[in-house]
Amino acid sequence: MRMFESVLIANRGEIACRIIRTAKRMGLRTIAVYSDADRDALFVRMADEAYRIGPAAARESYLLGDVILDVAKKAKAKAIHPGYGFLSENADFAEACGKAKIAFIGPPPSAIRAMGLKDAAKALLEKAGVPVVLGYHGAKQDTAFLRQRASNIGYPVLIKAVAGGGGKGMRRVDRQIDFDEALASAQREAKNAFGDPRVLVEKYVTAPRHIEMQIFADRFGNVVHLFERDCSLQRRHQKVIEEAPAPGMTPEMRAAMGKAATDAARAVGYVGAGTVEFIVDGSEGLRPDGFFFMEMNTRLQVEHPVTEAITGLDLVELQLRVAAGERLPFKQHDLKMNGHAVEARLYAEDPAKGFLPSTGKLVALSFPQDDGLRVDTGVVQGDSVTPYYDPMIAKLIVHKATREEALAGLADALQATRVAGPHSNLAFLEALCRAPDFIAGAFDTGFIDRNLETLGAVPAATDRIAAATALHALLDPPSALASSPWDMRDGFQLSGTRLLSWPVMLNGEADTIRVAWDGQGLLVDGFDPEANVALVRDGASFYALHKGRQTVLGPREPGAAGHEGGDGDGAIKAPMHGKIVAIDVKPGQTVTRGTRVAIVEAMKMEHALVAKRDGVVGDIALKPGDQVAEGGVILTIGDPD
Ligand code: ADP
Repeated sequence: MRMFESVLIANRGEIACRIIRTAKRMGLRTIAVYSDADRDALFVRMADEAYRIGPAAARESYLLGDVILDVAKKAKAKAIHPGYGFLSENADFAEACGKAKIAFIGPPPSAIRAMGLKDAAKALLEKAGVPVVLGYHGAKQDTAFLRQRASNIGYPVLIKAVAGGGGKGMRRVDRQIDFDEALASAQREAKNAFGDPRVLVEKYVTAPRHIEMQIFADRFGNVVHLFERDCSLQRRHQKVIEEAPAPGMTPEMRAAMGKAATDAARAVGYVGAGTVEFIVDGSEGLRPDGFFFMEMNTRLQVEHPVTEAITGLDLVELQLRVAAGERLPFKQHDLKMNGHAVEARLYAEDPAKGFLPSTGKLVALSFPQDDGLRVDTGVVQGDSVTPYYDPMIAKLIVHKATREEALAGLADALQATRVAGPHSNLAFLEALCRAPDFIAGAFDTGFIDRNLETLGAVPAATDRIAAATALHALLDPPSALASSPWDMRDGFQLSGTRLLSWPVMLNGEADTIRVAWDGQGLLVDGFDPEANVALVRDGASFYALHKGRQTVLGPREPGAAGHEGGDGDGAIKAPMHGKIVAIDVKPGQTVTRGTRVAIVEAMKMEHALVAKRDGVVGDIALKPGDQVAEGGVILTIGDPD
């Protein structure tokens, strides 16, 4: 068989860049498709050719299979790589590619369909002898019946959307009296997210670990596994850190899981790269009889680089070769693991605000260079994180001889990484990599939630040290005191020392920093010359980067509210670009601080907005269904008349 002459990448961001890199190395012509939001994106610049497919919203661009297929025909693409997400698990699209005689880099449509619904996949694999979690995956959906099943299974149970993905439509229920309500809300969320309210109920595995097997199959019946990945560090059922091999894994358990995974692949006639996800009962350590099939992802995974690191293989190259009809170049016994690899997902999100996605221009973005460090990203400094897609900035993957070295290496790499503009989870990821229990291998999928406070804890002095350092730099040399573009107020003289109160905006809120100048040296309240603060200037603002966090310091904006404003701002603003889902109050209604007043949906998640003061609701500018821009005022809360 001959390798394809060209490949179209039906995706964007880091995964598009990653696929283009391998395709180019193999000599393929690379074809990108992009939405208006991605016109100048890195992956568009990297590709040999690029075609516009529509506006920013994914459902008007990256999810339009027909439009992408038309581009593929026009560009004479011989193959389409769907990456992950978007069309990657869309069997109809895979089928349409086949009809157009363009190779879909993925399994046959029938395999995608067989694994598409969790209930059917579980029933099928149970028959094939693959261990499945005790549960009900049948067609009956009425509340009384499912409640009865839940009590037969035994609490705690997990309700899951059969069409589920990304943790949506999933509810853990600990007591029977909570079952009906949890069921109703899971069904509602499933209907909204997938257009399918059906659920299954299964045993909630205690001390669960998420361990998945990477498998590969060719068209000649060869199926192998490329060992496991441990993805137990999760938040809201979303992976945060992944590693290979899994801590505590034994050769017996690996063999048993490898057999189950390859059996699952064979049961559906699988071809190409796939991942079989298992939930592992970690309550008594890893045991060959303590793992259960959860689902199979019929595509490349975000975390595939850790497998590439320990096997030395390029999974995208293998995908292309298998799709072109080549045989797998190895048998199971040829495969060896080497060292340990860990991946962290760097996100534009604000851990201090419940991990709310954060958008905007990347005023700074840089990574260290280190032996064993791989950075997969789709953006460069100056690019923007937009509200339209997943806000992942980069994946950092470290490969070392041992797990300890890999974790330490990743922590150091994160420490040396700079992100300014959007907030990021940099400090949080570093704290995770340095968490003693995680390093000791004592963790399960609840680890992050249980330790959220310590992991996300911000040393109280951080902002002030960073702000003071920025101000110190701004006022250096001290003659800048006279010529600073910033407004200086409230200065007074005290026996030769000038004391100034400097009005600033600190992280968007009005604040004051005190400065003393004795004619020789400058003393800024809070300044610590030993602290390692990096400064990035953007216009009149400073981004002070310190301990993986950013502190934004700028000149005081006229009329700005903040710490000094007493009760706090009465304006309820959208934290980010999104849609109003609900307004919970009416004009004239009395509310107290903390009352929920509205819900905004942004980046596929709902965010509750609460009153920041006691008062009376004034004008309500928007209604449910309206779009709102970041910072847009939804309603105001004022004083009673
Ligand atoms: P989704 O497709 O929505 O991501 P999964 O079925 O893959 O849902 O499960 C996501 C995560 O939920 C798993 O990684 C695991 O942490 C947790 N989980 C799933 N099933 C169970 C279970 N039976 N018991 C305990 N935790 C579970």
